[in-house]
Amino acid sequence: MAQKFLKCRVGNGENTSFWFDSWTPFGRLIDFIGTRGPCDLRLSLTATVSTVSNGQSWTLPQPRSDSVLDLHIHLTTVTPPVASAEPDTYAWMVNGTDCDKFSSAKTWDSLRPRSTIKPLPTKDKLLSWGLNIQPSCCLCTTHPEGRDHLFTSCGYAEFIWHHILAKLHRSHLFYSWSELMSWIRRITTASPTLKMLATQVTVYNI
Ligand SMILES: [Zn+2]
Repeated sequence: MAQKFLKCRVGNGENTSFWFDSWTPFGRLIDFIGTRGPCDLRLSLTATVSTVSNGQSWTLPQPRSDSVLDLHIHLTTVTPPVASAEPDTYAWMVNGTDCDKFSSAKTWDSLRPRSTIKPLPTKDKLLSWGLNIQPSCCLCTTHPEGRDHLFTSCGYAEFIWHHILAKLHRSHLFYSWSELMSWIRRITTASPTLKMLATQVTVYNI
């Protein structure tokens, strides 16, 4: 998910991955050109952008597909990297705008669906408003659906959190929404902004 926002500004091209970093308007070239790309362009998956420059011009082979042709056309507008240039840098871009630094608010604003400004109420809320509905969780159907259950302790939520938290160095799952919120605020090895973004994306996807 973060790759969608992380853009490379190529300096000397030595740290930017040709295939896996987003350094052109086309996003990751492995997605844009496809998995045959490394073979067609005779460029390994570990190639950097500096690999395709001799310091004066781009050294890509002749295009054999429309997407590679588009890349060639774009590169005619870009100065090839030279070894004496500054190191490559990364920028956090939201909707084409450089945020200067990571912005959780702007990132979430671009991720959230436009048609649902207000969060969908969980079933315990709907029941408290007098609606005649089944109280069971819409995902597992075995527990009453409330915020604590749906977003932290439902088996489906736990499955997603298990993978997310492994990357954030937390070994156990959450029991409640308030425990999740206090974890975001607490100082841990993972930064609060990263935890907040991970939480936003996880809750949105559940
Ligand atoms: Zn459930």
